[in-house]
Amino acid sequence: MHDSNTSCCDTAPAASTLTPQQARQRILERVSVVDAYQQIPLRDALNRTLYRDIISPLNVPSYDNSAMDGYALHSRDLPIDSPVDLSIIGTSWAGKPFDGRLQAGQCVRIMTGAQMPSGADTVIMQERVTRQDKHIQLEGEHQAQQNVRYAGEEITQGDTVLKAGHYLQPADIGLLATLGVAEIPVFRRLRVAFFSTGDELRSLGEPLEAGQIYDSNRYSLHALLTQLNVDILDLGIIRDTPEAIRQAFQTASQQADVLLTSGGVSVGDADYVKQTLEELGQVDFWKVAMKPGHPLAFGTLGKAQFFGLPGNPVSAMVTFYQFVHPALQRMMGRTPSAPLRLQAVTTDTLKKRPGRVEFQRGIAFNQNGTLSVRSTGSQGSHRLTSMNQANCFIVLGQDSSGAQTGDTVEIELLPD
Ligand code: AMP
Ligand code: MG
Repeated sequence: MHDSNTSCCDTAPAASTLTPQQARQRILERVSVVDAYQQIPLRDALNRTLYRDIISPLNVPSYDNSAMDGYALHSRDLPIDSPVDLSIIGTSWAGKPFDGRLQAGQCVRIMTGAQMPSGADTVIMQERVTRQDKHIQLEGEHQAQQNVRYAGEEITQGDTVLKAGHYLQPADIGLLATLGVAEIPVFRRLRVAFFSTGDELRSLGEPLEAGQIYDSNRYSLHALLTQLNVDILDLGIIRDTPEAIRQAFQTASQQADVLLTSGGVSVGDADYVKQTLEELGQVDFWKVAMKPGHPLAFGTLGKAQFFGLPGNPVSAMVTFYQFVHPALQRMMGRTPSAPLRLQAVTTDTLKKRPGRVEFQRGIAFNQNGTLSVRSTGSQGSHRLTSMNQANCFIVLGQDSSGAQTGDTVEIELLPD
């Protein structure tokens, strides 16, 4: 087994067991970015990751224009001591500029976004003038150059607007459209294969007989992977025999960048997943000192990364969030964000024994301005209701022996 890299202050409980933090770090060091891209239309680019920097082909704004509906004039015509009278010589509309040139004593009616007429450097909002037919009266104090958006003041042609590795969100899509960019290079989608193991499992639509349950992990994993925008290869339920598992491993390693399995990684008599990984691939580690989620197998299978998640439905989800989620982000070219940990006051007593880091399921809420958290109740790792009610994990450290009502604890918000 690999050494656990223990130091004075980061105590792994046994030589072969990593802390969740060590496991996460190790996974992120091992996985590499899938270095291939696709050129795709801008509309399809939401939740994809940019493969190359985007350099602006334009100035934004591309011409000086008005920030207000009002009157464009030259600042030398602004009133000093007494009111001034300016004649209106035309209109500049958004999309239909005024094509003459302003002389002293003249102004042009202008709309928001319309191009500044030549000879003008200032816009006075319409509420601040008195209009009479083809004239305006202007008095009081006004600032020169006000209400003008200058060419290139937001983005200059040649600027790097978005960097490679940027995860594209709605405002980015709008920004790229502003620049006239119709297609962009993004990291290709990851192909993630997964299957469930367990002779007790049945697919939806099949009748349940004695001792059988529905396979829920394939559904929660499908949903988690869908949120990450990867290509999904569902290999179904695989029987608890070494041959069947071997066969599924071979299929997956030929077709996918990542293989996820659930179940069959503990020490029961029908747990063949780790054994098969040892045989056909390489086990990096298979134990993490956490609850739920111990054991978890990580390694490689040919060119594919392998994650053997525990079978209990909550354990499978917790380990997905802690390890698979950041690993897939990295493989897709993103910088995985460290989980945001916040301090909250617990309104429940939280039971725990020292030894492993626990990810208890909690409900964070605002109590009179204080971030507070309550437990979802019984914490069995088979109870998916503890997970579906939760909006956060309550992270209790390895040495913690629980918390009392009123104690401050660490929480980690679940993604929406
Ligand atoms: P295992 O890790 O295979 O020993 O499974 C641990 C527990 O999780 C057992 O109670 C299994 O029945 C349950 N389990 C395993 N896989 C699934 C699944 N895909 N859906 C629901 N429960 C599962
Ligand atoms: Mg099993």
